[in-house]
Amino acid sequence: MAADAPALAESAPTSGAPARSWPAASIEQLDLASDALGGRVIAVLTGAGMSTDSGIPDYRGEGAAPRNPMTFSQFLSSADYRKRYWAGSHLGWQRFDGARPNDGHRTLAALEASGIVNGIVTQNVDGLHLRAGSQRVVDLHGTMDRVRCLTCGQTFARADTALRIAAANPWLDEPNSFELGPDGDVAFTQINDFVTPDCTVCGGILKPDIVFFGEFIPTEKFIEASALVQSAEALIIAGSSLVVNSGIRLLDQATKRKMPVVIINRGVTKGDPRATVKIDAGTTGTLAQLAERLTT
Ligand SMILES: [Zn+2]
Repeated sequence: MAADAPALAESAPTSGAPARSWPAASIEQLDLASDALGGRVIAVLTGAGMSTDSGIPDYRGEGAAPRNPMTFSQFLSSADYRKRYWAGSHLGWQRFDGARPNDGHRTLAALEASGIVNGIVTQNVDGLHLRAGSQRVVDLHGTMDRVRCLTCGQTFARADTALRIAAANPWLDEPNSFELGPDGDVAFTQINDFVTPDCTVCGGILKPDIVFFGEFIPTEKFIEASALVQSAEALIIAGSSLVVNSGIRLLDQATKRKMPVVIINRGVTKGDPRATVKIDAGTTGTLAQLAERLTT
């Protein structure tokens, strides 16, 4: 299962195209969705569209800039790649660190607290579901706020690693230390001078604890996600266009079990033909309206 995408979802601030405005979900769609979901225990799969209202760009969404994420083998292959990766990732982290959960995240946490949602499988690495109060969260693609040593396996808090990077590379704070390219890429003026953080235990290569392009999702993580879907009676897919294989496999499991599936996403998803109800709208408002119907 080739994992996909999330790696550099953190890397580069990007302007993208101006956001297109989307109509809210219609009453008819909301009624259909709540009819399909009502009285059932619901598993939720979330993707990047979930966090756009928290200011984290959706690189696959409408108007997203084309990107060239670094693969895991490139990252391993040379110190130069790792300098570029860590420098870009450091800028991305500062942005992530300032992001806050939105009402969509909070709605899902409240639905879990009331026993309607049994947990969340997320393709996002931003940690916002946990910060919103969700308890059972399977982070399929890992999490940005943790760093792992590829040699000894030791993990570190990203915030601590970020402090080390800042201390070792004071020039990053200079106004002209980088340039944003038209495709969202970042070019650093002194990249050769960049000091990459290494493991304080063994000196090994550090990598944010997220799944890169060309890297597999850990098996136990996917098993955990499957278990969550299979112990539910319905599935909501929120803010994912399902281009990532793992998302499709979870959808397969749900449809095989004849679970109702409601997809909420701005734009087409690969799962649309199999959705019981597809709502072409943003997640934040739609989830709130749906929750109101499901809890009354
Ligand atoms: Zn180590």
